[in-house]
Amino acid sequence: MLLDVKNLTVNFTIKDGMVHAVENVSLQLDEGETLGLVGESGCGKTTLGYAITQLLPDNARIIGGKVMFKGKDILTPSIKKNGSLEGYQAEIRSLRWNEISMIFQGAMNAFNPVYTIGDQIDEAIRIHKDVTKEESLERIKELYDLVGIPSDRINNYPHEYSGGMRQRAMIAMALVHNPSLIIADEPTTALDVIMQRRILSEMNKIQKKFDTAMVIITHDVSVVANTADKIAVMYAGMIMEQGKIGDVFKRTSNPYTEALFAGFPNLRGERKELMSIPGDPPSLVNPPSGCHFHPRCRYAKSICQEQDPPIQQMETGQLSQCHFAKELQAGTLRREVR
Ligand code: SF4
Repeated sequence: MLLDVKNLTVNFTIKDGMVHAVENVSLQLDEGETLGLVGESGCGKTTLGYAITQLLPDNARIIGGKVMFKGKDILTPSIKKNGSLEGYQAEIRSLRWNEISMIFQGAMNAFNPVYTIGDQIDEAIRIHKDVTKEESLERIKELYDLVGIPSDRINNYPHEYSGGMRQRAMIAMALVHNPSLIIADEPTTALDVIMQRRILSEMNKIQKKFDTAMVIITHDVSVVANTADKIAVMYAGMIMEQGKIGDVFKRTSNPYTEALFAGFPNLRGERKELMSIPGDPPSLVNPPSGCHFHPRCRYAKSICQEQDPPIQQMETGQLSQCHFAKELQAGTLRREVR
């Protein structure tokens, strides 16, 4: 197994109190696999990605859990007694870019505007590898070729690239050392659908070529529908359902997953009215008791407010955190009239 996240819990301290951003999250990824991590904005997806790469801000605290990468615990050695992360722990520094890369949300902000993109990729190469400037330039040209950017654009500044080119340059930067795992945070948000499709298919080709595993963090279910092997659906810091993408789409076992999917059109399935989820995601400072989704769930019953739902293994293979997962899958769960 490449990545094994076990019972990870992350909090943030803010002036209003404690934000429970990630609660007891576990997930696994094998070599070459793609996991789509989906959910509404603010559900903890990005925090989970940043916890794996140890890029959390200073006010974050790891309360519990482990991140195993290639069988080695890469998180525990960095955690101080108060739960914060050591700034520059040697272990993770050597893994970042070499073994685990991140494609950051919003490529315009991820690049430094006062340096050329070529200089920034060159730095990512030469900080980890003892190569000459000429060898590094050759590698950048190779990567630009791979992501479809003409090499005469290497010395341009970020503002001289279109949004799609910047995103592809970010992908090139993530690939500099052929990492085993790429965590891509909203890699196609803010791009038009044509460019989205192009970027996703380029990422897919590159991934297959190098057998790279990928975690795609997105609020857009359609982004992962055709690209991911597995899906994990997050809500209010918890994973509500996870499993093979076909199983979760065909035999949904969690009301939140069902509600999230109902908001996206299915071009191949029967025509249905698109539904939005009523209400807003909860405050993670004071999340609702029991199942955090209960105030918005069409099936919620009194037990949902009173008790945390258990994680259940379904016969179809996926895991679901709901008191009524089996009934939902069997089609016997009735909505509550409010
Ligand atoms: Fe809905 Fe209850 Fe299941 Fe939560 S536990 S998703 S509130 S039915």
